[in-house]
Amino acid sequence: MGNKSNLIMLFTAAALLTASCGQPSDGPVVDGQSGTDSQMVTVGELGRLLGLRVSETTSTHVMLKDSANTVLIFTISGARVYVNAKPVAPVGKVDKSGGQIRVSRSLISKIRPAMQHPEGGPQAGLRRLSACVVIDAGHGGKDPGAKSVLGFYEKDINLAVASEVARLLSEKGLNVRMTRSGDSFVELDERAAIANRLEADLFVSIHSDSFPKSSRRGYTMYVARSASRSSFRAAGAIARSMSQTGLASHGTQTASYRVLTDTSGPAVLVEMGYLTNRSEAALLKDPYFQNRIAQAIADGILDYLS
Ligand SMILES: [Zn+2]
Repeated sequence: MGNKSNLIMLFTAAALLTASCGQPSDGPVVDGQSGTDSQMVTVGELGRLLGLRVSETTSTHVMLKDSANTVLIFTISGARVYVNAKPVAPVGKVDKSGGQIRVSRSLISKIRPAMQHPEGGPQAGLRRLSACVVIDAGHGGKDPGAKSVLGFYEKDINLAVASEVARLLSEKGLNVRMTRSGDSFVELDERAAIANRLEADLFVSIHSDSFPKSSRRGYTMYVARSASRSSFRAAGAIARSMSQTGLASHGTQTASYRVLTDTSGPAVLVEMGYLTNRSEAALLKDPYFQNRIAQAIADGILDYLS
């Protein structure tokens, strides 16, 4: 696979691929489910750290791309890594266990100098524009979610904020999909399946919290217990941005919510505030405040993607 004609064929095939919602921007390999080994990263994470998307994965190689660079990583023992058709380093250790391909994080320092536009350069904006984000308004239809102390239901607030987040992100040119756009019931596994089918760069589920003690207030980010670093990074970016709303932060916590555990890519669940707290319920019902929260969530998502 290392000879020149094979490489040229691979580069030609890759040039025909484009990224958009519904067409994988991250290839069949998505973020790892754990960040336990600090030395090894999934090829999806490696691409993200370099500002590249995974455009192709086979049993022998992975291709990472942006509009200026093609990085070809051969994942068989003794193989090499190529940047724009030039060999830059041996691939080193490759871990293919658990349906994920992991390579040494140290490859970043070998690949980056050979790239035409390192991360943060002019390509960063392009990557963001090609990103696919799935916005999930929690509950809906026969499932109203929590009831607020003011009598309204969680599902309606979630939809109002989620719709505005989706509108703001679409306005920025991102490919945005909602799991529901009206008062309809969508099964939890279907919500995750939508993100998985689209190989979304990020799945964000929007909820409002409840608690037996009415004094409890503030927003919380949730990621799955075995979440990837990308999920934690996205949660951190949204939490930081949410502080602009003036609501108190409970930071990022882990939980086994189905929409988080069943999504294969980065996923965050946002609990915006407590419907069981009278003043937060009033804020969450206020269309002006809903827009402020939506803006903060959208800003956090854009921050994570750039
Ligand atoms: Zn909920």
